[in-house]
Amino acid sequence: MSKQQVIILGSTGSIGESALSVLSELADSFDVVGLAGGTQWQKLAQQARYWNPKYVALADTSHQQSLKAQLPDGCQLIDGIDTLTRLVESVDCDCVISAVVGAAGLPATLRAVELGRKVALANKEPLVIAGELLMSTAERTGAKILPIDSEHSAVFQALQAGLQEDVERIVLTASGGPFRDATESELENATVKDALNHPTWSMGPKITIDSATMMNKALEIIEARWLFGFESDQIDVVIHPESILHSMVEFCDGSVIAQMGTPDMRTPIQYALTYPRRFPCPASRLSLTDLGQLTFLEPDTQRFPSLRLGHRVATEGGSTGAVFNAANEVCNDLFRKGSIGFCDIVRLTEEVLGAHDRVDHPKLDELIDADGWARREVESMLATSPIKKVN
Ligand code: NAD
Ligand code: MG
Repeated sequence: MSKQQVIILGSTGSIGESALSVLSELADSFDVVGLAGGTQWQKLAQQARYWNPKYVALADTSHQQSLKAQLPDGCQLIDGIDTLTRLVESVDCDCVISAVVGAAGLPATLRAVELGRKVALANKEPLVIAGELLMSTAERTGAKILPIDSEHSAVFQALQAGLQEDVERIVLTASGGPFRDATESELENATVKDALNHPTWSMGPKITIDSATMMNKALEIIEARWLFGFESDQIDVVIHPESILHSMVEFCDGSVIAQMGTPDMRTPIQYALTYPRRFPCPASRLSLTDLGQLTFLEPDTQRFPSLRLGHRVATEGGSTGAVFNAANEVCNDLFRKGSIGFCDIVRLTEEVLGAHDRVDHPKLDELIDADGWARREVESMLATSPIKKVN
């Protein structure tokens, strides 16, 4: 059988590197034909020399020529603007691993879906922004979107135990992040260093902060709403600090099917690539007897109002996902730069959401407008009432 040709968008990031680690064990079945990153051109050059792909793309135009000088013979740089989208268009590949962080991944992910590619999706923000558009496009072109996000991979696996119409609800698990047991005043004073200290997962900085605010779980509620087509009130969240049970599906007969494993992203990445087959994976094996017990707790929406917002956006749909995501992206970044406090991330995002006039069934340009509006709205809110930083 011929090898599947794969492109990785965001190969220099946490998911991108884990995907390459998975692919190095699956060299008989997959060929890496394209690699793309944002700014880390030296790491990208190193990856290109090791993997020898046909094409490489770098979003940062100021370092494209430096990268080009370090590429191996036969490896072509796609330079200029919109490089990730042009990479997707240049290669007639079987699979696109979408692992860019944030809204920046939307154009290339949408293009892959328009071209009917199999998309192994880690980059959840495109589904949050444009879930309706992406899923309807996939239906039209036959593109398959396979989740890499561990909770959604778990739900995807559990759904195979029954029929969609027999599902009563899905339950997404959440570790609760580094501030699971923090008081409201500890949350107000949380520092960037504390927020970046995730207890169970090692991830890129944006999602690590999203996990601390639980905005990540809000994004995942919206992601699940579009990916699987469930209503917002069919999607529950339970806190599970050990991150062993990755999520579950409850069917109408009361049977609950869950997927478990050690917290290692290589498992869901590999499953998205090899589905419906399974192969040995380098992730360590689960020993329930070593663990002894697993814990499940009710989420506290008083301390973590982000969960409420996730349900609200999943219910309202339209352009609210684009606004919610953009406001969160800006606030997440401002917090990491030390410009706003930890609780301001959710507070400001909720304010921006409240000021937005929803557009139903938005087209791509309307989503891009909503995204831009929300980013400007955060800036203008901060300009009119500057935030006094607590730390
Ligand atoms: P990361 O910050 O480690 O990596 C992000 C990648 O995107 C890098 O390769 C970077 O160069 C690239 N990138 C950033 N901005 C870009 C731009 N403007 N244009 C082109 N490329 C750009 O992030 P990550 O932790 O790997 O997360 C990637 C995505 O996967 C996110 O959407 C995240 O929510 C999701 N995800 C991550 C994990 C995890 O364990 N890290 C788990 C589940 C889901
Ligand atoms: Mg997740």
